[in-house]
Amino acid sequence: MSKDKFTFQTNIIHNAQSVDRQTGAVSVPIHHATTFHQDDFDQFGKYDYSRSGNPTREALEEAIANLEEGVKGFAFSSGMAAISTAFMTLSKGDHVLVSEDVYGGTYRMITEVLSRFGIDHSFVDMTDLHQVATNIRSNTKVIYMETPSNPLLKITDIEAVVKLAKANGCWTFLDNTFMTPLLQKPLKLGVDLVLHSATKFLAGHSDVLAGLAIAGNEAIAEKIGFLQNSFGAVLGVQDCWLLMRGIKTLHVRLKESSESAYKIARFLENNRHVEQVNYPGFSYHPGFETQVRQAEGPGAVLSFRLKGEEEVRTLLEHVKIPVFAVSLGAVESILSYPAKMSHASMPPAEREKRGITDGLLRLSVGLENPEDLIKDLGDGLAKIKEVREYHDKAAGSI
Ligand SMILES: *Cc1c(COP(=O)(O)O)cnc(C)c1O
Repeated sequence: MSKDKFTFQTNIIHNAQSVDRQTGAVSVPIHHATTFHQDDFDQFGKYDYSRSGNPTREALEEAIANLEEGVKGFAFSSGMAAISTAFMTLSKGDHVLVSEDVYGGTYRMITEVLSRFGIDHSFVDMTDLHQVATNIRSNTKVIYMETPSNPLLKITDIEAVVKLAKANGCWTFLDNTFMTPLLQKPLKLGVDLVLHSATKFLAGHSDVLAGLAIAGNEAIAEKIGFLQNSFGAVLGVQDCWLLMRGIKTLHVRLKESSESAYKIARFLENNRHVEQVNYPGFSYHPGFETQVRQAEGPGAVLSFRLKGEEEVRTLLEHVKIPVFAVSLGAVESILSYPAKMSHASMPPAEREKRGITDGLLRLSVGLENPEDLIKDLGDGLAKIKEVREYHDKAAGSI
């Protein structure tokens, strides 16, 4: 029976890579070899040098291509290596249109590196199709999406942007880190290239730095393959193996974390210290209908707004469970402060304009018991009141 008769949950475990064809091993062998003996100088074998191709990396690349339903996968040493390599498809004089609340590292790459090579950019609110349409120029080659966006969880209508791109002869790239192919398959919606920081949900344990690119058609697959070998930021074999192991539990991890995220988001929206909760699982979220149409769920990341920096400080001082760190998509819940972390490379005025204010926190929900997390966050938020009363009292007694 063909494997595509089965569901994602089964395919993630039983795929072409699940049994080593040579030995029957149920875990992909790690091939450390950097070079491969050739029997004949007229005809090289499948592998010659590990930057160009390695059997362990190939197993991972085939697995992710299969899960994203693309034509070819490519593994890189980090998400930024994958994203930067993808941007190398552009040439001097080209223009790229980008989601305005794009990942901070991508923002830095576009504004501080690509600009030096004569590659121009415009940031737009990708949720506003009119803005997208009116900002496409004759030299626009790529429309770059991130949905849900980071850290505001805004939803872009993928099919609508793809339609605009195709009508204008542009490629579409999409950073699928927050959703993974379990929840969203952009290539099926016509996107040309999917990118991942596999460091996050795909690897899932805060112990592997990795990036992936998956091509939706042969034309772009050929370009990315050439650039992967030319630029050379490939993923090492140990990390390929760790990433494949992480992917095997993606379904169970993300399903559980998403359910907990929903409960926590509900709790937060009812807490009086929380001014706003951004979570695409709420029916009043402006992108809710689009999200329901194009994805299988809202995911396990949410953000919420407190009054300001002082309130954020109080909460962070008192919560015990989530780690306070950059990154997301791990077994442990991670609370981060975009203004000072992921978006620190964005000028403050740009940040504020995008809604990434000093009171905004992002929570990536892990695998802890959700009731424990709710209690912990509730206790931390309650301290905001105590601290404020203490300050008010101190001010009153002067
Ligand atoms: C972390 C992240 C990246 C960058 O990936 P690295 O693996 O850290 O290089 C890109 N996009 C998103 C959405 C991310 O969260």
